[in-house]
Amino acid sequence: MTIASSLPVTRDACVARDKADPLRALRERFDLPPGVIYLDGNSLGARPKAALQRVQDVVTREWGNDLIKSWNTAGWFDMPKRLGNRLAPLIGALAGEVAVTDTTSLNLFKALAAALHLQANGPGRERRTIVTERSNFPTDIYMAEGLAQWLERGYRVRLVDSIEELPGAVDEDCAVLMLTHVNYRTGYQHDMALLTRHAHAQGALAVWDLAHSAGAVPLDLHAAQADFAVGCTYKYLNGGPGAPAFIWVPRRHQERFAHPLTGWWSHAKPFAMSHGFSPCDGIGRALCGTQPVVSLALVECGLEVFEETSMAAIREKSLALTDLFIELVEATCAGHPLGLVTPREHARRGSQASFTHPHGYAVMQALIERGVIGDYREPEIMRFGFTPLYTRFADVWDAVAILKDILDSKAYDVALERGAVT
Ligand SMILES: *Cc1c(COP(=O)(O)O)cnc(C)c1O
Repeated sequence: MTIASSLPVTRDACVARDKADPLRALRERFDLPPGVIYLDGNSLGARPKAALQRVQDVVTREWGNDLIKSWNTAGWFDMPKRLGNRLAPLIGALAGEVAVTDTTSLNLFKALAAALHLQANGPGRERRTIVTERSNFPTDIYMAEGLAQWLERGYRVRLVDSIEELPGAVDEDCAVLMLTHVNYRTGYQHDMALLTRHAHAQGALAVWDLAHSAGAVPLDLHAAQADFAVGCTYKYLNGGPGAPAFIWVPRRHQERFAHPLTGWWSHAKPFAMSHGFSPCDGIGRALCGTQPVVSLALVECGLEVFEETSMAAIREKSLALTDLFIELVEATCAGHPLGLVTPREHARRGSQASFTHPHGYAVMQALIERGVIGDYREPEIMRFGFTPLYTRFADVWDAVAILKDILDSKAYDVALERGAVT
């Protein structure tokens, strides 16, 4: 396939850039199917090669041979905390502040409940609103609304329609500002430190969802003075389908961290089997019940890869990849009704680039047919995630060439039925 020679870069230049890429060797740590350009690591990260050996070991040796002894001998019981400590440096957290457990939805519920509890037992006891964006990932809003309703104390979720309106919505009635740091559709990245400072100045607490940030952009929760945070491990952290999520509770809040999901894993003495709940100290308070050990074990294979590089190096390549993609799409597909919805400003951009197209769903299906896997989000948004650990500059060039070909030849079927998962 050829693209006009007036382009900002040639394919050869992209190949040369890949040769000089300091992260080049890390692609070898992943098993990617041949002929596929995978631009959906923001939804389900690719498989680390090590995962196969690890799952075999967990299933045959730890489970099959060592049976129940493995809770102790293979460290199953401690895994949520051990993995949390390994994840901590990626988000600017300290050891003993992160647990890998449950789902993002559940962890958000716990964090939000804990934040409301802190407010209800302090100077913020009259505050009743949880402020978030209408454009937030729906489960975050559903969980907040569910919690607010079930508490039956007059709590409500206030949905804000634009970023400009956010600061004003954090008023004297706001108990918690609950935001997703990088928007799943547009890739817009909030200024965490600025908004957290604003929330605190107004007497509110700040809870952050890092689902599209962890492993994608550098994070420093302590520098931002955030109150609580949660996030996914199956997206940019490559933990595997349905891998347990994480929750961060800074030391300064741990002693007063309380939520209603008081399962036995957060009990001070779970095996005393005693009557009455008495919470343990530390991040263990964020746990609830028995964890999916096989799935949890795979999270480690994803985290290991990050220890061979830095978030600064990942960020530098991520911005270069998204810049290149945006530049090439705009240069080659200029005649088509595409609209960039991702910020051009680096500081405001996550690790994705999203374009609207009136037939976005059909165009994305045609791309997937031709081996370029991105995804589609309502309304009209084609979303392309860029994972610097395994995405090459030449992949970007090839993906845009295929996109241009599909658009020019109208090789997409506008009458396509949607699958259950888009
Ligand atoms: C992906 C994502 C989730 C997913 O939540 P689960 O409980 O894992 O299904 C939640 N929130 C945001 C912002 C996400 O991007």
